[in-house]
Amino acid sequence: MRTLVTGGAGFLGSHLCDRLIADGHEVLCVDNFFTGSRANVAHLQGHPRFELMRHDVCFPLYVEVDWIFNLACPASPVHYQHDPVQTTKTSVHGAINMLGLAKRTRARIFQASTSEVYGDPEVHPQTESYWGRVNPIGIRSCYDEGKRCAETLFFDYYRQHKLDIRVARIFNTYGPRMHPNDGRVVSNFIAQALRGDDLTMYGDGLQTRSFCYVDDLIEGIVRFMALDTGFVGPMNLGNPSEFTMLELAEHVLRTVGGTSALIHLPLPSDDPRQRKPDISLAIEHLGWHATVPLEEGIRRTVDDFRERLKTP
Ligand code: NAD
Ligand code: UDP
Ligand code: UDP
Repeated sequence: MRTLVTGGAGFLGSHLCDRLIADGHEVLCVDNFFTGSRANVAHLQGHPRFELMRHDVCFPLYVEVDWIFNLACPASPVHYQHDPVQTTKTSVHGAINMLGLAKRTRARIFQASTSEVYGDPEVHPQTESYWGRVNPIGIRSCYDEGKRCAETLFFDYYRQHKLDIRVARIFNTYGPRMHPNDGRVVSNFIAQALRGDDLTMYGDGLQTRSFCYVDDLIEGIVRFMALDTGFVGPMNLGNPSEFTMLELAEHVLRTVGGTSALIHLPLPSDDPRQRKPDISLAIEHLGWHATVPLEEGIRRTVDDFRERLKTP
């Protein structure tokens, strides 16, 4: 199986490449290194079934593949808001190019969509049938609307060109290999606690997220891609255990120890108040649910950060 992973040098992409190599795939990892890095896949370099290509998915790509996982897109608000026009282009032009590639090669194609398609949701937990509450002109819109448009493209190529698609809506996922300066809450809190800095709490800390450990998520993605029942999604993938950011900070501080306090900073605009996946479809179609509790996942992530923060 010749498998393309776009965004393969990023956090999730690199774990997916590991898994696909272990499963016997020939892996072509494509990345423009905007938020990802060669270091994330350095251990795979030299493997006879692994190839790394620097390429921006906003431009056409002509390769021969059987499966495509489209993960290219910065995922942290700090990074996707840095160049918002590029973020929308990556989601939309990237999807068009990868769908065009899938159409020519008749490859099966997976889209890493997101819980952000639900915006700041009034329905809780979020089911796939919920259409969401998204601001089209705010600072998060480049990401949210880009991903929504990508879903539209996937389902139109599915209906119009009979493409073999899989669309997963991924909820907040964390774990080893997240960049310490990535800007997302789990990596920020762990890096701050390990450095003895105060933890940056945006707003009152009562907003909620549901955090999935990376190994659980990769298992869900791989099972969904292999599914041959005709169900193509959209399908939520995430861990339904819901925590406030204050509870997350407590978990991190308990695991790391130290003397960090919390400093409260303003809540960014359009920051969703609550988020929790309904995973009934994943249970029904994949027999999948997350198994790593937050405490255990945080422990493993702290161990990884501790090692990496040692070396400059
Ligand atoms: P990440 O930022 O670590 O990885 C994204 C990768 O895409 C990086 O390696 C980056 O360099 C690459 N990239 C960005 N723009 C590109 C372009 N134009 N061409 C080629 N490569 C490009 O983030 P992640 O957490 O690994 O997220 C991977 C995917 O999963 C993203 O599509 C993201 O939207 C989606 N997702 C992630 C989460 C999560 O919690 N981690 C949740 C929902 C959805
Ligand atoms: N494309 C690509 N690789 C391929 C085939 C197509 O990158 O192997 C790009 C191509 O540049 C095009 C896009 O995918 O802009 C959409 O392709 P499609 O065939 O759907 O549209 P068309 O070429 O008819 O505009
Ligand atoms: N957050 C925080 N401190 C940080 C980074 C984020 O309190 O240093 C908050 C952020 O405002 C949001 C939640 O944590 O309410 C999750 O943020 P993240 O950027 O990880 O993901 P997203 O908002 O995209 O779910």
